Amino acid sequence: MAEQVRQMSVTENLHNVLADIATAEKEAGRSPGSVTLVAVSKTYDGPAIAPVISAGQRVFGENRVQEAQGKWPELRAMADDIELHLIGPLQSNKAAEAVALFDVIETVDREKIARALANEMKKQDRHPKLYIQVNTGLEPQKAGVEPDALLAFVKKCRDDFGLSIEGLMCIPPVDENPGPHFALLRKLAEEAGIDHLSMGMSADFPIAVAFGATSVRVGSAIFGKRDYPAA
Ligand SMILES: *Cc1c(COP(=O)(O)O)cnc(C)c1O
Repeated sequence: MAEQVRQMSVTENLHNVLADIATAEKEAGRSPGSVTLVAVSKTYDGPAIAPVISAGQRVFGENRVQEAQGKWPELRAMADDIELHLIGPLQSNKAAEAVALFDVIETVDREKIARALANEMKKQDRHPKLYIQVNTGLEPQKAGVEPDALLAFVKKCRDDFGLSIEGLMCIPPVDENPGPHFALLRKLAEEAGIDHLSMGMSADFPIAVAFGATSVRVGSAIFGKRDYPAA
């Protein structure tokens, strides 16, 4: 019974988030469907995620390679067009697993990772899309390339490692107005000739849509408050 109640509300949450995205697209004068919802399922187990797949959601985000490996092979069997994004920090010793499991890796942020990914992609002949994480708030505890170093890093990824970089991702400081961070990410993407902008979470995704996000990463507004934070 409790399970059924939870499933109903999760589906309702999903539809509410999709409706909010549609409203934000419209208000920003953007075409319907121009923003992709990445449903962030970190910390939630298979039975909690399955109803969201059944409700039609296909794009999901996870922040830990090992956690994702434990649940997604089985969940993927529910639909053949699931797209899985890695949105958490990647260690180079996990590059092989990440390339094998994910369709989009949003957290490329240093040369060592870029090189490891390039090697694995060649070896496995599997080519997940790559985004670079940018530390727009220059926070010491946060991953990401500093804005000033971005253009050189993109060039290195392209020229030295033969990687095509398709997007930028940022996580603004929690206690700041996110707008300027979203604007900065968009400006950097324009300068680097990059099309995709992954920005906006449960608290601020409509603002991110107004600033040009092409995907928003929404967890707790769909699945509920997490029992423990997963940074
Ligand atoms: C957890 C997480 C999200 C989702 O956060 P919510 O506030 O639950 O929507 C988005 N992006 C990243 C990188 C995350 O780790």
